[in-house]
Amino acid sequence: MNAPLYPKMAVVGCGLIGASVILAARAAGAVGNVAVADLSPTARERIIALGLADSVTADTAEACQDADLVVFAVPVMAMAQAALAAAPGLKSGVTITDVGSVKAAVREALTKALPETAFIIPGHPIAGTEQSGPDAGFAELFQHRWVILTPLTRSDTPYMAAVERLTAFWTALGSNVELMDEKHHDLVLALTSHLPHLIAYNIVGTAADLEGVTRGEVMKYSAGGFRDFTRIAASDPTMWRDVFLANKDAVLEVLGRFTEDLQALSRAIRWAEGDKLFDLFSRTREIRRGIIAAGQESAAPNFGRDHRPASEISDIKSQ
Ligand code: NAP
Repeated sequence: MNAPLYPKMAVVGCGLIGASVILAARAAGAVGNVAVADLSPTARERIIALGLADSVTADTAEACQDADLVVFAVPVMAMAQAALAAAPGLKSGVTITDVGSVKAAVREALTKALPETAFIIPGHPIAGTEQSGPDAGFAELFQHRWVILTPLTRSDTPYMAAVERLTAFWTALGSNVELMDEKHHDLVLALTSHLPHLIAYNIVGTAADLEGVTRGEVMKYSAGGFRDFTRIAASDPTMWRDVFLANKDAVLEVLGRFTEDLQALSRAIRWAEGDKLFDLFSRTREIRRGIIAAGQESAAPNFGRDHRPASEISDIKSQ
């Protein structure tokens, strides 16, 4: 068997994404020793019970001591605090990455808090579910999914080698890796992920508030469309509060455009402009077909409904 890409990996914050990174990395043989730091006593208990890591602590510096790779998998607004706590434990030449859903704000937090001897390579796996916590993690989460890396604007050889190794790491976990400018990432994700979540939170909130529509009726008659919104609107409140606060400018930009288009639709309905509605709905149907053709139609292709959570596959660490 080949030597692992990173002899020691530290994961700071081990919920859905952190646990999935560990399970996938171990299954791929991409890491040796795994240390976890998590501030939640409940999460730490579960991580130990699931056998996810070689060591589990609340002391972030201790977990990061001598690590070759540190993965920050905490909510976006907690990145600065987590990085400050990790700094005293870091060895020179360590690769630092994260999985946060917003990139410019996280890069700023990491570069401020961490020493220049660390190779900071922000990242974002475009994969997830509406679940949280270590029990929700599963090894296949990143398979056939994009991982976007937003490297710093430096091109020295050691840094480029670190980017290459991190690319090899995510590839070993089954992902397709793309390098992107952080601002472009934040704008694209504002449109494809953040705005849809905002719409879901809003529509479910509106339905719950509507007078005359009882909670029971909302549940009873919720057809496919609304049910899908309720699934998205069940996503972690802390994570999503942080995403909107940290990606404020890009979200407001796409929200402005969205509101204009919604007004145009409302006018088309008012004036019975059926052709306009039909044209739009035909165009969007084509977009959906394109997504299916690209194999990106579910949160985890082939594992969507019956993926095994970490609690059922804790034995993976011995493979
Ligand atoms: P999660 O399941 O809520 O897990 C986060 C864990 O980090 C929790 O146990 C939390 O403890 C702990 N934590 C918070 N602050 C910490 C700190 N300063 N130091 C150490 N541990 C800390 O979250 P997740 O869904 O895995 O999301 C993690 C990151 O992945 C977020 O940045 C999110 O934007 C990104 N992401 C998520 C998804 C998704 O679908 N969920 C997809 C792609 C990317 P407490 O519960 O006590 O706060």
